[in-house]
Amino acid sequence: MSSGFGSCSSGTAQSPIDVGGGSGLSPAPLALAYSLSEGEMTDNGHTTELRALTAQGITVGGKEYAFKQMHFHAPSEHTLGGARYDAEFHFVHQTDDGGLAVVGILATVGATNAPWAPFTDGVPAAAGGQKVPAGVVDFPALFPASLDHFAYDGSLTTPPCSEGVRWLLLETPIELGAGQLATLRAAHAGNSRPVQPLNGRDVVAVDR
Ligand SMILES: [Zn+2]
Repeated sequence: MSSGFGSCSSGTAQSPIDVGGGSGLSPAPLALAYSLSEGEMTDNGHTTELRALTAQGITVGGKEYAFKQMHFHAPSEHTLGGARYDAEFHFVHQTDDGGLAVVGILATVGATNAPWAPFTDGVPAAAGGQKVPAGVVDFPALFPASLDHFAYDGSLTTPPCSEGVRWLLLETPIELGAGQLATLRAAHAGNSRPVQPLNGRDVVAVDR
């Protein structure tokens, strides 16, 4: 699997990481600015991406980030206390001046998750590489009830693995049905970068 990440930078603030807990200063909280929206999906050869056809985003510390796209990794990239989850979703956001913030949501097997069905149902159709309509997506319902999260500074997890990415990994995993997870694995199995050294970075637990 490492061959796919050969062009990643050799920086010292890389992602993903194993999160063993949080400490340190408490940054400003996360607020969602998501709503119902038509969605559109594409497969980029590494994962399947979902975009919204109307403006979505988040606010972190009073700073607005626009939603760019959401995609998945299976299994998860981040681990919690060494535990890997069945899947991880990355909601990628960007400020007007190019700053990146990624909200990570971990997923574990459980009940079928209806709000996620437009995405999981669309993954096979998107495999051909063309844009596929996802229908109406209830974006707020994709998130777990709690937005408590671990915050740290890291990188993109695909080449060029650029640093300066603000990470917000939600502590509460969502459940997906076994069939939904199987659909993700069938499209892109093992598209997860191994955990990277923390190198003394602060990981902050943010309760909100
Ligand atoms: Zn990702």
